[in-house]
Amino acid sequence: MDMAKGSPMGSYGILLTYLHMLTRANIGTITDLQTEEDGYGDSRFKYCFVALGASVYPIASHGACIVHLQRNVAAKFKKRILATLISKAARAFRKSTFNEYFEEIERVSPGCAEYLMAIVLKEARELPIVSTLEYIRGTLMTWFEKRRGKAAQHKMDLAPKVEEIVQRNYERSTCYEVIKINNEHYEIKTTTGLSYVVDIQNKTCTCAEFNMLKIPYSHAIAAAVRCDLKVPLLAAPQYGTFF
Ligand SMILES: [Zn+2]
Repeated sequence: MDMAKGSPMGSYGILLTYLHMLTRANIGTITDLQTEEDGYGDSRFKYCFVALGASVYPIASHGACIVHLQRNVAAKFKKRILATLISKAARAFRKSTFNEYFEEIERVSPGCAEYLMAIVLKEARELPIVSTLEYIRGTLMTWFEKRRGKAAQHKMDLAPKVEEIVQRNYERSTCYEVIKINNEHYEIKTTTGLSYVVDIQNKTCTCAEFNMLKIPYSHAIAAAVRCDLKVPLLAAPQYGTFF
């Protein structure tokens, strides 16, 4: 009765199945389950990695524990070998072993493979480790949606958050005195009497802040304004929405 709802063994065992379904149902999803061997030579859960694809899988409408699942499959698909394969796949701790069994199920009955995917997704959500992952997945999906919406409205050259920072830095830069040293170097004098040198070509500044964050800092912005350079061009390309 390992697969009984809520038992840790069943939960981690079905995790592999769940991860497989997740990658099948969400194009672009990458998962990796890491296990380690304990003193008895058994695999134990170590950690699990999930990078979600953008699509969301359809909500399945059935639910069953593995025993019921085997019974349903036997009645529905009329092939005894399926029940054995399902049992083996569900208990596989190694991804490669699981894939072998699942591919075998697909060969024997593609319809059964599809049926299992729908059911396991629904069923797996109710197990402790999987429901935790589901909760995280749901939260991330909400964030993706929000960010996608924000990005769609945004027409500027920089990502919205970076744009905000640059705007603040720009306001600060307006009180600096800017002295041109040569085409690349500009000396920035602040109202408190401090002095920095910005290298507009190499995107560096003697204060080091600009160098580290690669977000146009007030010193660099002051230099850019002085030499008529577009401020977004000073940012690292990762901050842009222009590619
Ligand atoms: Zn600086």
